[in-house]
Amino acid sequence: MKVIVIGAGPAGLTAAHQLAETGNEVKLFEAGKEVGGLARSFELWGQRVDCGPHRFFSSDKIVNDYFKKIVGEDYTLVNRLTRIFYRNKFFYYPLQAMNALGNLPFTTVFEILFSYAKQRISPIKNPQTFEEWVTNRFGKKLFSIFFKNYSEKLWGIPCSKIDADWAAQRIKNFSLLEAVKGALFGNTGKHKTLVDQFAFPKTGTGMLYERIGEQFKKANGELHLSSPVKKVLQDENGIATGVELANGETHLADQIVSTMPLTLMVKSLAHSPSDVKAACDKLYYRNTILVYVEINSLDLFPDNWIYVHSPEVQHGRITNFRNWCPSLYGDKKTTILCLEYWCFDNDDIWKKDEVSMGKLAEEELRIMKLIKPTDKVLNSYLLHIPKCYPVYETGYMKNLSIVQNYLDSIKGLMVIGRYGSFKYNNQDHSILMGLLAARQINTGKDQHLWSINTDSEYQEQGEVEYENE
Ligand SMILES: Cc1cc2nc3c(=O)[nH]c(=O)nc-3n(C[C@H](O)[C@H](O)[C@H](O)COP(=O)(O)OP(=O)(O)OC[C@H]3O[C@@H](n4cnc5c(N)ncnc54)[C@H](O)[C@@H]3O)c2cc1C
Repeated sequence: MKVIVIGAGPAGLTAAHQLAETGNEVKLFEAGKEVGGLARSFELWGQRVDCGPHRFFSSDKIVNDYFKKIVGEDYTLVNRLTRIFYRNKFFYYPLQAMNALGNLPFTTVFEILFSYAKQRISPIKNPQTFEEWVTNRFGKKLFSIFFKNYSEKLWGIPCSKIDADWAAQRIKNFSLLEAVKGALFGNTGKHKTLVDQFAFPKTGTGMLYERIGEQFKKANGELHLSSPVKKVLQDENGIATGVELANGETHLADQIVSTMPLTLMVKSLAHSPSDVKAACDKLYYRNTILVYVEINSLDLFPDNWIYVHSPEVQHGRITNFRNWCPSLYGDKKTTILCLEYWCFDNDDIWKKDEVSMGKLAEEELRIMKLIKPTDKVLNSYLLHIPKCYPVYETGYMKNLSIVQNYLDSIKGLMVIGRYGSFKYNNQDHSILMGLLAARQINTGKDQHLWSINTDSEYQEQGEVEYENE
């Protein structure tokens, strides 16, 4: 079969690689200059860094087997340490009951326990929003301390407007009770949220994808970098027949796999009905600004990354690349941190230049006392990531379903990936989508691609419903 894959992130690369290895004629078009998408790694000030923190974790066998097949022994097991910074104190994340309660004033602890008990006695029935879902699991007080600020920084909308789906995907069946059990009996390995070690490719997350790219080419796959796709072409019956690139070239195929932003792809289709276009208009994404700073100091803090809940600073997360694996920084004697800011296209911060963002990052690190007064910021670097997070605003599923139903009616077109299918995917979800998309094309058996990363129990038992080959 002739297959065109749009986008060389984890989802597109995996699909393309599998399809090429199984004898299909595959062309992969990537808008950027390198492979890996959001999970790429790159050289900065003499060392390798990722786009923010990238922890790889899956309990799905086919994803782990694939990871091992590509990476082999070239990975390190990293001990996870991630904490929340709030009111100038550090709280372990995932929440550890004794640490959380011990760090708070007695009156607050009492309020937390009281509001949790109240919620257990009369929970909100059928929670629809993030606020309701988390309040049920942790009580109102703990919600307001540990979930509200961060989530509102990330999404830019109130928690009462964020869909409960996001909590179900990210927090899964974790609760205050589970945190207390974890504190008393240790991590039983049951909750993904509690996993404290992860595999990390020695030269950064992107190593995995660079290798997949190489193997794809070895299997006669055609990789076209700096080749953005403008639209997916259809014949008079609506069947997808190929793509048109931004430079005007057209390429034909029997099957298209798209990982470009869902809304843009659907609106590019000549036959999209107006209600589908209208549904697309209501689906939107949040952008990320990454500000990298190099500090002339070591041992700033021990975490892989810190969630910053404090409302007095604008960023929401800091990665410390010194704490992942030594093969990243070699014999360098400086530390690279990466601060994440989230915004929409029209926000002023999206238009700020590298110098202003570098200054803002330094100011905020000093406010939080994460760097000492004598520490110097040697360099700063700015990276814009548009359409980084598909926003799960309450009711988004109604619009997404309209788009999904329409796409299911188009022969020869499949959408997968994070912004490709409008799902808050981690790497493992996107890899799984890529593997299963290839399997669906090769076997003709439906692999239920839309249902990946929707089930709140997904990965807890390592169970995903797909058809065996
Ligand atoms: C700051 C940050 C931290 C993260 N942390 C983690 C983590 O700890 N663990 C984890 O597992 N995941 C993490 N992720 C998520 C992970 O990066 C994504 O899940 C993964 O990269 C999604 O892969 P994808 O292929 O679906 O999409 P993407 O990686 O977005 O790839 C899509 C590709 O399509 C290309 N493209 C777009 N439009 C076009 C077009 N018109 N034509 C051609 N190509 C196009 C893009 O350039 C891109 O290369 C994080 C993401 C971010 C941003």
